[in-house]
Amino acid sequence: MAGTAHPSYAALCERMAELADLSAIGGLLFWDRSTMMPAGGSDTRAHACAALERVSHQKRTHPEVGRLLAELEPWAAELDPDCDEARTVRVVRRDFEKARRVPEDLAADIARADSLGEDAWMKARSASDFNLFRDALSHHLDLRHRYVACFDDFEHPYDVLLDDFEQDLRLSELRPLFSELQAALVPLVASAASAGTARRNVLAGTFPAGDQRAAVLEVVKQLGFDDEHWRLDPSAHPFAVAQGPQDVRVTTMYDESDLSVSLYSVLHEFGHGLYEAGVAPAYSRTALGGLVSLGLHESQSRMWENVIGRSRPFSGWLLSVLQKRFPEQLGAVDADTFFRGVNDVEPSLIRIFADETTYNLHVLLRTDLESRLFEGQLTVDELPAAFDDGMHSLLGVEVPDAAHGVLQDIHWGAGLIGYFPTYTLGNLMAAQFFAQAERDLPGLQEDLARGDVGRIRQWLRENIHAHGRKYSSRELLRRVTGEELRVDPLIGYLRDKLTAATLLPAG
Ligand code: ZN
Repeated sequence: MAGTAHPSYAALCERMAELADLSAIGGLLFWDRSTMMPAGGSDTRAHACAALERVSHQKRTHPEVGRLLAELEPWAAELDPDCDEARTVRVVRRDFEKARRVPEDLAADIARADSLGEDAWMKARSASDFNLFRDALSHHLDLRHRYVACFDDFEHPYDVLLDDFEQDLRLSELRPLFSELQAALVPLVASAASAGTARRNVLAGTFPAGDQRAAVLEVVKQLGFDDEHWRLDPSAHPFAVAQGPQDVRVTTMYDESDLSVSLYSVLHEFGHGLYEAGVAPAYSRTALGGLVSLGLHESQSRMWENVIGRSRPFSGWLLSVLQKRFPEQLGAVDADTFFRGVNDVEPSLIRIFADETTYNLHVLLRTDLESRLFEGQLTVDELPAAFDDGMHSLLGVEVPDAAHGVLQDIHWGAGLIGYFPTYTLGNLMAAQFFAQAERDLPGLQEDLARGDVGRIRQWLRENIHAHGRKYSSRELLRRVTGEELRVDPLIGYLRDKLTAATLLPAG
């Protein structure tokens, strides 16, 4: 970002560096809350998060930022519109306009409620009692309505929330895309179910947590995880968070009767971490260094977990690594059986454990419910039954209790409304990006069969990770693949893989 002629640009960058530092502190508070903090610490932590948000909000909306932008915009208009300086001015303007409409008290209230709501959700889920969560959810919705009321330039109220996670995506565009996906997925799932293949979780057995940790570390260290810059810790819900490209933290959980939980969640979080580690070093502590979109982020985690991680070539390599560590449990499994086992299609209750094919149906349901909740077509009290009905009609599964139903996911507990769709957007983009990578890198599948990910990692870094927030996810998708968001690459990819795994009836 050096070499710029305008003195005010440096002043703007200095302010953005400070905001990036505050955001890193927020990431650290989140990491600590999810890995180390004793449960009793939640009240104090909620105040700390609210205080941090208040300071960040003041800095984000400081009149001096507006003054600097007004001064820099005519200068930036004369530059190459794709240069870092012009893009930085645009990104800061966007953030500034969004933030300054929201009163500081409301921003702090939202931060505090998000922290406390998570606590209420946890208690409700352990008791499997939605009533313990309903007030927190109503409060979140109320705060979000107040938040949305700060903006008057969105078509639909839900668009304001969606835009925070996926810039420029609108419900009017999302609904037809998701309907098209649902129409293609439902018969695909039914067809796989009718194939009648014997179902067996090839990764079920007895796997001590310590051995699992050693095994998954051995895998990801071959893919790019190094002890100097990465950490792996246990948490109740796997996640990844980075303090810049040099400090990437991923977490996982261990189920001692099922190796797939830690293995595939670590591959997933590794994909997130690799993205953060790959942002151009020049963008560290700048406005271009942050998160561009959750959908794009998710496209990277899903690519490692599913598109690469469950492919026939790579899963064969994975099995060979795991067999050395677990000869008794996995010694007798052959690569084709393993490939079939990790791609098996079976409608199930829990989203995070759902197979790759049925997974998106969980997300489509959540998106439908939260958008209707937000439109007022559905009340908070009607939500548990609406969730159960949706699970029945979309996936054909019966929900036994709230803990395995509407309360299974933390998102609404943490006030994250508008977030769920990004998972499926990630799956769509992952299929589109990977198809392009295969066109650009002949012999990629042979690399993956050897566990050699050097070329694909480099391709992802150059084409996607390095750009940070410079391009929106839609622009990046267009630049890399020449396409808009599409459903058919994902469906075609699933169909090909399930056919290869003999999980679809022949013909
Ligand atoms: Zn993810």
